[in-house]
Amino acid sequence: VFLAFEGGEGAGKTTQARLLAIWLRDQGFDVVTTREPGSSKMGMRLRAILLDKETTGLSSRAETLLYAADRAQHVAEVIRPALQRGAIVVTDRYVDSSLAYQGGGRELKVKEIAEVNRWATGGLTPDLTIILDVPSEVGLGRFASPADRIESEPREFHERVRRGFRALAEAEPHRYLVIDGTQPQQEISRQIHDRVRAILPD
Ligand code: C5P
Ligand code: MG
Repeated sequence: VFLAFEGGEGAGKTTQARLLAIWLRDQGFDVVTTREPGSSKMGMRLRAILLDKETTGLSSRAETLLYAADRAQHVAEVIRPALQRGAIVVTDRYVDSSLAYQGGGRELKVKEIAEVNRWATGGLTPDLTIILDVPSEVGLGRFASPADRIESEPREFHERVRRGFRALAEAEPHRYLVIDGTQPQQEISRQIHDRVRAILPD
């Protein structure tokens, strides 16, 4: 089973991914938690390039390809091997982040980014993608100050990212669970459990 968390900055993905993994392990499942970008040695170097505020002038297409390169390595080195041995994989970000950030945020063509990523991942798609939806001012407001190159983008950028995620879920509702990320943490977890329970092996 392959599960992905998606959403903008400060949406609570990391927290909910951690809580979901604990809930699944309590039930005896083998769980691998992972994240993008930067879940391999090479990926950590790409992450540094992508998020360092000193990186200037990176073209949107180059940015898209670097995220896709990180993802290709992530799939090959971490996700596929874990799925092959029967583990449940929970990832904090996956292909939809590229569709929302480079598609919505950078305004590249979503279809083209999807094609690049289909190739990069060999078409590996999550069984369920959980989108934590929060208004960008709420998400960004959860940090004292922008920590990286992307968080430093203007509010409109982050609003386009948010709309990008919502459009993906609207186009393919059966593959997504969209949750209001401004709700209390326990209520969010409860909604995730209800949906994930239905797709767990027995
Ligand atoms: O740890 P976190 O998920 O916050 O770091 C990843 C960062 O990379 C985020 O700030 C996000 O904005 C950015 N990102 C991006 N495009 C992607 C994936 C992540 O700009 N495709
Ligand atoms: Mg961030």
